[in-house]
Amino acid sequence: MKVTIDAGHGGSDSGARGRFNGYFESHGVLDIGLRLKSLLVLHGLQVQMTREDDTFISLPERCRMANDWGADVFISIHLNSHTSNAAGCEVFTSGSTKSRDLANKVGYRHAEAFPQQTNRGVKTNNSLYVLRYTSMPAILTEGCFLSNVEENKWVSIPDTRQQMAQAICLGVLDYFNINLSKPELTLEERVVRIEKHLGL
Ligand SMILES: [Zn+2]
Repeated sequence: MKVTIDAGHGGSDSGARGRFNGYFESHGVLDIGLRLKSLLVLHGLQVQMTREDDTFISLPERCRMANDWGADVFISIHLNSHTSNAAGCEVFTSGSTKSRDLANKVGYRHAEAFPQQTNRGVKTNNSLYVLRYTSMPAILTEGCFLSNVEENKWVSIPDTRQQMAQAICLGVLDYFNINLSKPELTLEERVVRIEKHLGL
């Protein structure tokens, strides 16, 4: 199973900014993406990241990377912004059956992790570049609104970002029908997998 994680924005493109503390969307989504990568690798999935540091990567390049690699799914991670005081999580899908299934599963796991947060649901949007020009099931998540002071404060806490990554991970595992009730890997088996992933 090959998963491309696309942390939105980066470098000169900071994306949205936190209304409370100026937190950069580009920094938050990279952090969530790196946490997600660690979790997926622990479950034996192969992971490609469109960026692993604070650099600008164009949208066509992000799609090209995933298409050339032959990813099974593409997960673009963003944090939302609006001039209103909107709050909540939403997951975008291109509308294809598999993309919708993946979006539903990730959205379900996010709502399960954060029952107190507004659930804005799964939305079809065919105009989002990375959903349109990737050739595999692709979704774009907006975990919360940086323009909302409370959600800005909330997502500035590392544990919130870890839980967001865990929710996406569980949704991806659900999509691939990977059964979590199987016996857990031993610590030694986990280390071997991480070393293999790092090419050690
Ligand atoms: Zn964004």
